Parts: sequence; structure tokens; C-alpha cells
Amino acid sequence: MLLNISEILTVPFITKDYQVGTDFEKLLLRRASYPVSEKSPFQLTIHKDGDHLKVSGETEIKLIMPCDRCLEDVEMTFPVRIRREVNLSKERDGDYDADELSFIDGCILDTDKLVMDEIVVALPTKILCKEDCAGLCPVCGRNLNEGSCDCDSESRDPRMAAIADIFRNFS
Ligand SMILES: [Zn+2]
Ligand SMILES: [Zn+2]
Repeated sequence: MLLNISEILTVPFITKDYQVGTDFEKLLLRRASYPVSEKSPFQLTIHKDGDHLKVSGETEIKLIMPCDRCLEDVEMTFPVRIRREVNLSKERDGDYDADELSFIDGCILDTDKLVMDEIVVALPTKILCKEDCAGLCPVCGRNLNEGSCDCDSESRDPRMAAIADIFRNFS
């Protein structure tokens, strides 16, 4: 959600708690989009000391992501721990890292952006529905967790699935 923090920016020293929510229904990335299956409102604390702004909060969010091997939906839980600091004088001088301030625009703070930033850095490199997921048969496409197929037995070996993962990561 977009939070107007003008009441904070106009005073030199303040600490204030806000009850905020996450509005986004999907995490959109360059090559994928993951639906949000669970989220809840959380408390965001903003502390201002002169030009120094500290933003902190904690929540948890769940996303539906496809298993890398069998493509079945997997619900992944992401603990979100927000700890951000902003130097407002740098913003005035135009001398700042765009990333550092991407969640504040004037007096509007984007809480969705704060949450997304934390999830993006925590995304797993591999998503598996279970450690020994057998994956899909490369010949007929059957989900081999649900039963075997009549294709070549070599393709049903879970070790082959692991090797297939490695090749996929390089392609
Ligand atoms: Zn799987
Ligand atoms: Zn098959």
C-alpha cells in the first residue's frame, strides 16, 4: 500500500507505528510471476532523527511457485524482515543510490515495494515440491510422482531428474 508520511517528514524527531498491508496479489519478476497465497497486515515503525529515516517491520508472506521438476504448485513461506535506512539530505541533493530510495517518492512510502525487495533477495535458486521429486517423464510428460509410465526406465531414475536440473540451469 501507499503510505503518506508527510506528518513524519515535517518534524525533526519522531517515532511512529503504522498498521500497513500488502496490496500486491502477485510477485512479478522479469521471467516469472508468483501468486500470493497468504499475507497479513503488519506493523511498520518509522523513526526519524533529523535527516535520518529508519523503517522497520516484520511479516510473513506465502507465494505459490512451481516445482522445478514436476511443475506442481508449491506454497513457499517467506519471512520478511524490513530494516531500511534512508538519508533524506542525500535525497535533496540528488546524491543517492536509486535502490536505497526506491520505496519513497516525496512523502509517499510504498510498503509493497519494501516487502517485495525482501522476498526477491530471499528467492530460492531451486524450488522442489519434495527433496526426491521424480519430476516429469521427458518422453510422455507424465508426473512420475503419481506413478510410472511405459517409457524407457532410465528417465524414471530420480538421479536423472537431478542431472536434468543441472542442465536446465545452464540453458
Ligand atoms: Zn515436484
Ligand atoms: Zn513417460
